[in-house]
Amino acid sequence: MSNWVIYFFKYYIETKINKKRKPILAGYKITYNCNLQCVHCPYWRRVYPDPSYKEAIDIIKKMHEMGARILIFEGGEPLLWKDKDENKNIRDLILFAKKLFFSVGITTNGTIKLVDIPSDVIWVSFDGLKETYKKIRGDFFDRIIENIKNSNHKNLLVNITINRINENELEEMVKFISPFVKGITIQFHYPYGIKEDDELFIPLHERPAIIDKLINLKKQGYPISDSYSTLNAMKDNSWICHDWMLINANPDGTITQGCYLKSRGEILCDMCGFAAHVEISKAYDLSLSSINVGRKIFKYRQIDA
Ligand code: SF4
Repeated sequence: MSNWVIYFFKYYIETKINKKRKPILAGYKITYNCNLQCVHCPYWRRVYPDPSYKEAIDIIKKMHEMGARILIFEGGEPLLWKDKDENKNIRDLILFAKKLFFSVGITTNGTIKLVDIPSDVIWVSFDGLKETYKKIRGDFFDRIIENIKNSNHKNLLVNITINRINENELEEMVKFISPFVKGITIQFHYPYGIKEDDELFIPLHERPAIIDKLINLKKQGYPISDSYSTLNAMKDNSWICHDWMLINANPDGTITQGCYLKSRGEILCDMCGFAAHVEISKAYDLSLSSINVGRKIFKYRQIDA
């Protein structure tokens, strides 16, 4: 039996039967620094010095000790992180993390070349076709598409954050990007309280029609990674959230267990649109389709670059 299966089996017994609240998935915001200023994002507006290589290694080790076995580097733009004194960049952190974690991923805005990145999975944010993308993220559409096409990574997915500006071109976006990626994940925009960001929010009662479009595209064979069960549950947020399965670290080294929003913004579950939280919670509740989504995304091992 693989290490994964044995670990997850033990994890399930420990948390379900012995009621231990132990995390499995870690997100590490390694920097707030970013080369874009997207309208919906609160993070580039925050200022805090980046951790050094040694500090980052300590955080990675701590998250592993706490129980996490999947680690995702986030930002800001994580590909910008560097420790000049130690001559280290994000690739060094990924390579270190790969010694400890079953799977190591990275999220990126895709504006920096996506070659020779040793993470096991890459998510590129893809929030619209050219004009829409420009309104949300700036005039970088051609560059990110070029970088996606030229990437040599075998497990590159895009993530669409659905909002008021892009909701009507979802179908075109999925059809356009599908030939170039392994999968497409979605989430709904969460309002962090920035003025322009509230205008992007899509309330719950409007989501079923949007989700039905995605379900249709998935049925037609487009590579939407989120399971039917997760998509359906997001229509009315009728799912049980096991947010304790997650830990999140910030550039200042704080590690928080629970919802992605904890210590970062107000937690308003009625407005939640974090499909990844739904999927992991459903997997814990033994939804086979959600377990399968996790298996598909995280089973790939990128050979160290
Ligand atoms: S906002 Fe979403 S992910 Fe966070 S605790 Fe509420 S339901 Fe869970």
